[in-house]
Amino acid sequence: MTTLPGPTVGVVGAGQLGRMLGEAAAPMGVDLVAADPTPDAPAAPVVTDQLVGEFDDRETYRRLAERVDVLTYEIELVDPDHLEFVAEEMDTPVHPHPSTLRMIADKLVQKRRLQEAGVPVPRFRAVGGIQDVVDAAEEFGYPLMLKARVGGYDGRGNAAIYDRHDVEAALEVVDGPWMVEEFVDYERELAVMACQGDGEVDTFPVTETIHEEEILRETVSPARTDDTTRERAREVAVDVLDVLDGRGVFGVELFETADGEILLNEIAPRPHNSGHWTIEGCETSQFEQHLRGVLGWPLGSTERRSPTVTANILGDVEKRQPATLAGVDAVLSTDGCKMHFYGKDEVYNLRKCGHITQIGRLDADTTELLEATRDVREELTFTE
Ligand code: ADP
Repeated sequence: MTTLPGPTVGVVGAGQLGRMLGEAAAPMGVDLVAADPTPDAPAAPVVTDQLVGEFDDRETYRRLAERVDVLTYEIELVDPDHLEFVAEEMDTPVHPHPSTLRMIADKLVQKRRLQEAGVPVPRFRAVGGIQDVVDAAEEFGYPLMLKARVGGYDGRGNAAIYDRHDVEAALEVVDGPWMVEEFVDYERELAVMACQGDGEVDTFPVTETIHEEEILRETVSPARTDDTTRERAREVAVDVLDVLDGRGVFGVELFETADGEILLNEIAPRPHNSGHWTIEGCETSQFEQHLRGVLGWPLGSTERRSPTVTANILGDVEKRQPATLAGVDAVLSTDGCKMHFYGKDEVYNLRKCGHITQIGRLDADTTELLEATRDVREELTFTE
């Protein structure tokens, strides 16, 4: 039997994902305590408390675990050893399971595990230097995608290799250890937010994700593809859940190839940018669902309410500066357009500082909705 006030959830990381988790926790009577190295991190104003501590310091995890009933994380930079310590020595449940994070944190280990489980992935292999890359190109052909096995995010950590002359430079800009993948000539990118509760699983409707320079710019839901492809994407996401231990929401990033095949790109063991549209667009948001999942509460309905587009607000500045956003009136004066400002102190080029969500009428044309949302976002700019 669930009673309120509810339990206290601890979250390692207090960035925008922690902030949106905090916004989802309060109405459910759940307290959220976050830990992050940056004092007054984006989540701080909306959570019960924020501890200040480094992600590589066991004390951060110990102090957080002492105050909470269950612990989760919103960033992959957290240390699986410290999470394991909390789960095993302090008996504080950790979701998703630390072993899941360990597997996901190394893109090579992740891809191998998924391949073993029969999940379709692009062809890939580990590489140790120039000759290995050249050998991989013999097999897969150019272009290739070189990836740092650990620590990459928002495309930092990836480099496309178009021919033999690019190999040395790519190995210099991307930190080793590396892997290479065949370059997928995809028709579009898709994402499914999949959730694992206490003995139940569910998926949110398939979203289309639009990247530019490997950074997510917009999401379109429903994805502009056919029903068979959407169903195939959902099946792959459910298969992915089989290899993941622990409860919560997982971001499953996919490629749809020209012949309608679905290939898995990567998994995030947490709510993900490609699921922000669910806040306004679905009966339950990915953040509420994550909390329900980690608490072992019944999962909420993932039904879509209406066609929904999101557009990220990224830093458009040359140098680091205070994050003051101008043009906000364009959002405020557009029907069905919602602002999500992450409250970061500083902006730098391409830093994710917020997003806008545009809800459409039930019969809305998603391409028109996307164009209208882009027009509103165009009005937003960071000012000195
Ligand atoms: P990150 O972990 O930094 O988000 P990803 O590996 O997910 O990096 O890649 C980010 C983006 O780069 C993808 O969404 C896609 O646009 C592009 N990308 C990644 N891998 C490939 C690939 N094998 N072929 C083509 N494009 C790719």
